[in-house]
Amino acid sequence: MDVPVHDVLIVGGGGAGLRAAIAAAEAHDRLSVGVISKVYPMRSHTVSAEGGTAAVMREDDNFDSHAYDTIKGSDFLADQDVVEAFVREARDEVIQLEHWGCPWNRDPDGRMSVRAFGGMSVKRTLFAADKTGFHLLHALFQTSLKYQRITRYDEWFVTSLLVEDGKICGVTALNLRAGGLHAIPAKAVIICTGGAGRIFPFTTNAAIKTGDGMSLAYRVGCPLKDLEFVQYHPTGLPGTGILMTEASRGEGGYLLNNKGDRYLKDYLPTRMELGPRDMVSRAFVHEERAGRVFSGPYGTYVHLDLRHLGEKVIDEKLPFVRELTKNYVGIDPVYAPIPVRPVAHYMMGGVHTDIEGKTPVQGLYAAGEAACVSMNGANRLGSNSLSEILVFGARAGRTAARYALEQEAPSNAALERLAREEEKRLQAQYFQSTGQERMADIRRDLHKAMEEGAGIFRTEEGLEKTCAQFPALRERYNRLRLEDRSQVFNTELIAALELGFMLDVAEALVTCALLRQESRGSHARSDFEARDDPRFLKHSLAYRAEGGRPRVEYLPVTITRWQPEERKY
Ligand SMILES: Cc1cc2nc3c(=O)[nH]c(=O)nc-3n(C[C@H](O)[C@H](O)[C@H](O)COP(=O)(O)OP(=O)(O)OC[C@H]3O[C@@H](n4cnc5c(N)ncnc54)[C@H](O)[C@@H]3O)c2cc1C
Repeated sequence: MDVPVHDVLIVGGGGAGLRAAIAAAEAHDRLSVGVISKVYPMRSHTVSAEGGTAAVMREDDNFDSHAYDTIKGSDFLADQDVVEAFVREARDEVIQLEHWGCPWNRDPDGRMSVRAFGGMSVKRTLFAADKTGFHLLHALFQTSLKYQRITRYDEWFVTSLLVEDGKICGVTALNLRAGGLHAIPAKAVIICTGGAGRIFPFTTNAAIKTGDGMSLAYRVGCPLKDLEFVQYHPTGLPGTGILMTEASRGEGGYLLNNKGDRYLKDYLPTRMELGPRDMVSRAFVHEERAGRVFSGPYGTYVHLDLRHLGEKVIDEKLPFVRELTKNYVGIDPVYAPIPVRPVAHYMMGGVHTDIEGKTPVQGLYAAGEAACVSMNGANRLGSNSLSEILVFGARAGRTAARYALEQEAPSNAALERLAREEEKRLQAQYFQSTGQERMADIRRDLHKAMEEGAGIFRTEEGLEKTCAQFPALRERYNRLRLEDRSQVFNTELIAALELGFMLDVAEALVTCALLRQESRGSHARSDFEARDDPRFLKHSLAYRAEGGRPRVEYLPVTITRWQPEERKY
């Protein structure tokens, strides 16, 4: 199959990818834009976002308040220039989305409704019932269809980024439906591949969230930033990890221990259930250690109680929560409390970019959960991420478009050579291997290592043990045995490629976590309980090193107007 040279090629058809595509298409009518996605775009994880998207919309709110909440939530690791740009542009983006057809909930007076969210000092989370991600993604998807200059590659899987003379010149991708590896030439590539929650065994993340883009960038020399910061969401269903949105607490739900107490009064007396996620998740562990949690077939849990909200509010504001709990645990939250426990949810870190979405590799850009533009620091506030994918998706799209307009098309000879090399690599590693290792075993051991060493609380000993397992995991991975040698929808091959990406991301994560000898935001070290600004008020940058542990360097945090202070709620 012959594919055209795209000026801007976006890897990822979720919220960040589609927003970037529209921005690039709008930048110039002569630009050719490609969007590649391993699943049909509407199946991207953005679709499952429930609670809402944050923006300053009301008279009782202002940009400084949203910025301060975000920076305090980040435990002062966010770059403050990034946050200031974010809060200003988030409002324009949600209004734009309204014009593109997103049906935000409205109050009787016609204004967009707002709800409370953890760590936000006023109500500023806009929502479309508890299916916000679905409506947001749908509005972006239908808008993207207007532009003839956007070409989609649905169900194509990117296996590598192509780099010639230090400059990005395209990607290689498997056409899952028709079979075959293709080089897709591009002047600029934007990574919008989402998070990597699947490196943990118990997660809210869809099965497709395997950190592909983070690893793709890492393999061509781009550093991964602040990867040690992993957000645990306090309320997932035991067993499946399905998310009970924070909106359940935003609308007034309680968390109760096995004594029937709202235990957050002992940890976050001013915010209670609406404290930031890192602190609410840690409170669960303390309750667990004190024996005040329930025990069930899928481990311990506490209760999320919505009964006092009544059927009308639950049906109007939280219909999806009712649907999910009825279907997955056989409980109707109108009449019974919901069992919940903390679950790995979101990666604050990712591909290192500047405020415009640019990475250190020429022609490579990134946005969304795959990227780390440094707006979430050590802990993201709920509902900031949907706004982030809009603001920084658009920024990356515009920046990549400007760059591409000044570039020549990449050389065909180089592309063909690079694609042949990738073909050879895939053949040798996956189809000609004589190894006997099973993928499921390696993935299980990876999960176990990550959960034991890099969970909610971490220690030097646990992290060191987890780090030490990577050489053996990699060695086993190189002896992987695949049964399926077919070309079309070879899901076994895809899972193997994803596992390779996960190993990269997981190893960089635990290495950064081991070196960060302090507790900040989501990174809680039992052996270094205090935040240590003199030593660690800085971003980690993990670089891939052949045959050894990743190399970690550091980058200063940009402080504009808010000096670091103790983070108390
Ligand atoms: C259950 C859940 C609920 C959430 N609720 C909220 C909320 O209420 N508010 C909020 O602000 N945030 C929420 N979040 C977080 C937020 O939804 C995500 O961070 C955000 O949607 C990520 O968008 P994205 O565009 O970066 O990535 P995604 O939507 O994950 O899209 C990634 C895209 O990359 C493609 N891709 C990946 N790898 C490859 C590859 N190798 N080749 C080709 N394509 C590839 C995928 O096909 C997909 O199209 C929630 C997250 C979860 C999991």
